[in-house]
Amino acid sequence: MAIVSSGPSDRASGKGSSRLGSRRLVDAQPHPYDSALDPAAGLDRAEAADPADSAGAAELSGTAEAPRLLREDTLRPRRLGEYIGQRELKQVLAIAVEATRNRGDALDHVLLYGPPGLGKTTMALVLAEELGVRCRITSAPALERPRDIVGLLMNLQPRDLLFIDEIHRLNRVAEELLYPAMEDCRLDLTVGKGTTARTRAVPLAPFTLVGATTRAGALSSPLRDRFGLIQRLEFYDLPDLQAIVERAAGLLKLELAGDAAIEVARRCRGTPRIANRLLRRVRDVASVRGHACIDAALVAEALSLHRVDARGLDASDRRLLQLLLEGYGGGPVGLETLAAGLGEDPVTLETVVEPFLLQLGFLQRTPRGRIATAAAREHLAWPEAA
Ligand code: ADP
Repeated sequence: MAIVSSGPSDRASGKGSSRLGSRRLVDAQPHPYDSALDPAAGLDRAEAADPADSAGAAELSGTAEAPRLLREDTLRPRRLGEYIGQRELKQVLAIAVEATRNRGDALDHVLLYGPPGLGKTTMALVLAEELGVRCRITSAPALERPRDIVGLLMNLQPRDLLFIDEIHRLNRVAEELLYPAMEDCRLDLTVGKGTTARTRAVPLAPFTLVGATTRAGALSSPLRDRFGLIQRLEFYDLPDLQAIVERAAGLLKLELAGDAAIEVARRCRGTPRIANRLLRRVRDVASVRGHACIDAALVAEALSLHRVDARGLDASDRRLLQLLLEGYGGGPVGLETLAAGLGEDPVTLETVVEPFLLQLGFLQRTPRGRIATAAAREHLAWPEAA
């Protein structure tokens, strides 16, 4: 394995990047699931996007990732106590954080997995805040060249937290560099070429890797085994979502009446990021219509404009179910066939669209393919199967 060991790259070390308060913006990629993200958005917009930047210890790595992180920052809980739901996850991590603080160590490596938008990045930032350490954020596709990850690792201060999103997409070289780094705080670098090549072990500061993935199964087992804590994030239930919507409304200075929060909660696919997004769309309609107070009827009207129905299904969900029912009598149909029929990427279908339909009981995954259930037929008012 030929590795350039010339130390951290400029990109990874953040030289020449903009500064935003205590936050340094360095490298990364757009979030693949955040369709609202404009990859062309520059840092200027990102900086303008977050006037409420707090003095958190987090360092955001990313040119394209930064705008999403910063836009979401105003609504992001910062401490474990503000992080709503995911009780088991919070319990496990609270104990680990306290024990780590008592020992004065770096927290053990953490793998967080689950569908997008459930709070993995947020939890990494919360952990850094609770531990009083810096958090560097990047995503696996940004670590294309060995020197990207070498630079990041060599720049870490003792006990720093390194968050790698979409960690299942790390390339083999980056992954192999991580093994000794995670296990023994050591980088094994190959210097020189051919017969003059030598391996040099470079010591690293003890650090915590927080990996996030939507596809835990796609992680190689040597990498998975090096995480001391492996935690799954679940979809949120209605009371938790309602609390998330009410908290976000408070931060956005919106007045919600009656059942407005629960109405948003019902339509957000069990996902806080979608809850926040829907709330912003409702805010738009309320401000255009001149409503000072948002009620359930306005939420329903605003969200049907965006083709989000009463159970939170959007146009992609309905297209999938309709194709299954109309084209294949309800299934079973293979994922690839469905993806081709919809002009979608199979991985996006599997990780972004299907989990919520499975959760609602509208879809079944069987060895022979996907099947639309009776509940899906009823929801779409589709005639019963013959
Ligand atoms: P992921 O990394 O899993 O894709 P994020 O951590 O980026 O998801 O979360 C998306 C948004 O959802 C955040 O900006 C935050 O405002 C909100 N959010 C996530 N989890 C919670 C939570 N437990 N409580 C309140 N808001 C949350």
